[in-house]
Amino acid sequence: MKNRSYLIKPELEKEYPSVSYGSGVYLYDCNNKKYLDGSSGAVTASIGHGIPEILEAMNEQAKKVSFVYRSQFTSEPAEALAQKLSNIFPGDLNWSFFVNSGSEATETAMKIAIQYWQERGIYTKNKVISRWMSYHGITMGALSMSGHVKRRERFVPLLNDFPTVSAPYCYRCPFWENHMECSSLFAQELERAILRIGQENIAAFIAEPIIGAAGGAIVPPDNYYREMKAVCEKYHILFIADEVMTGVGRTGAMLAMEHWGVIPDIVSLGKGMSAGYTPMAATIVSDRIMEPILLGSKSIMAGHTYSANPQSAAISLAVIEYIEKYNLVENAKKMGNYLNDKLRELSKEFGFVGDVRGKGLLIGIEFVSNKQTKKPFDREINFTNLVIERAKEEGLLIYPASAGVEGVNGDAVIIAPPLTISKDEVDELVERFKETLSRLTLDLL
Ligand code: PLP
Repeated sequence: MKNRSYLIKPELEKEYPSVSYGSGVYLYDCNNKKYLDGSSGAVTASIGHGIPEILEAMNEQAKKVSFVYRSQFTSEPAEALAQKLSNIFPGDLNWSFFVNSGSEATETAMKIAIQYWQERGIYTKNKVISRWMSYHGITMGALSMSGHVKRRERFVPLLNDFPTVSAPYCYRCPFWENHMECSSLFAQELERAILRIGQENIAAFIAEPIIGAAGGAIVPPDNYYREMKAVCEKYHILFIADEVMTGVGRTGAMLAMEHWGVIPDIVSLGKGMSAGYTPMAATIVSDRIMEPILLGSKSIMAGHTYSANPQSAAISLAVIEYIEKYNLVENAKKMGNYLNDKLRELSKEFGFVGDVRGKGLLIGIEFVSNKQTKKPFDREINFTNLVIERAKEEGLLIYPASAGVEGVNGDAVIIAPPLTISKDEVDELVERFKETLSRLTLDLL
């Protein structure tokens, strides 16, 4: 008989192994099968599993106090975490608003952007421009900004009608251009969208620096963010970087936007911020954006009961200190390059690997039925799912992503192991992935 916990599964009819424990980059199920966590779960467990320092910090804080309500108390861990984030991030990204999930962080970013304009006496700037092939979260505001067709489709009538522009998806360039520097075409498209809708109606533009679940680690052309930010500035539109997947070291920089030297007005964080040891996320706001709020209403109307609870703050702080202590941002860069090279090499052996892309330890692999024409597999095959299942059989965990034109008709996976991964473990990951691809070759015969 099915028990009630059955409902925790995203796909009700599927069999899931039950996890027993984790250690470093490995997870073990109750049958003692070992898995290499090649995706850090949902690109989350970025320092690996069972790290004693974190368990100690958890325990120490639990002995003092786990929860206080943020309207009654501040706490040392919450203050220290806010200070730490301000120290590790570039420019004037100095203000932290703590929430519990990435969806809340992006939704809060949207609210703060709208509030910013209101504090300046402008009440019409209520829309956010986003991109097709984007995922900013599952709550209604975050989903309204998301271009992830599959996750939106049931709720479309209830979503805000926010405008979208093309994603910088070079493997299938939306402009059918193939030259190296196409950033200005994207900037022109953004400019046209702003002129059509009216800058007086647009609060912000939101983008994932590297597109995650909705595209499979899509990295834009080099000048893309500088040009997009320039358009935003020209038309008085805030730039929100959704760094829920990319933030806190994942791509070989504390914030992925640092790769392009662009400082956003607002940043959303989640996942790697607490590496899965506790639900913790944050909206980071620059001095520039806080200024009118501090001079005006002096409050942000976006709190949650668990916002800034000392337990989660202490854990998140310990995670970030661990990342700093062991130079994990550097390791992400080094191991990321190594893994990326090895996967590119491997892709030559398999006719159905269309593209390998990414930065640091956020790597996407797109699959196609024909490498020359880039034709995707028929949807009925559900190739992404097949890859994930075969990899799991080989003891390798990887993460599914959408791909194809507008992210609706293609197959991709994300490989994003913990930032702690060693060279030997990368070799093992690649070996297990090679086995997976070899089995898929047989499946396709
Ligand atoms: N933003 C991005 C870029 C994400 O990748 C995700 C989750 O995958 C979210 C927001 C939503 O985060 P959460 O699932 O923690 O609500």
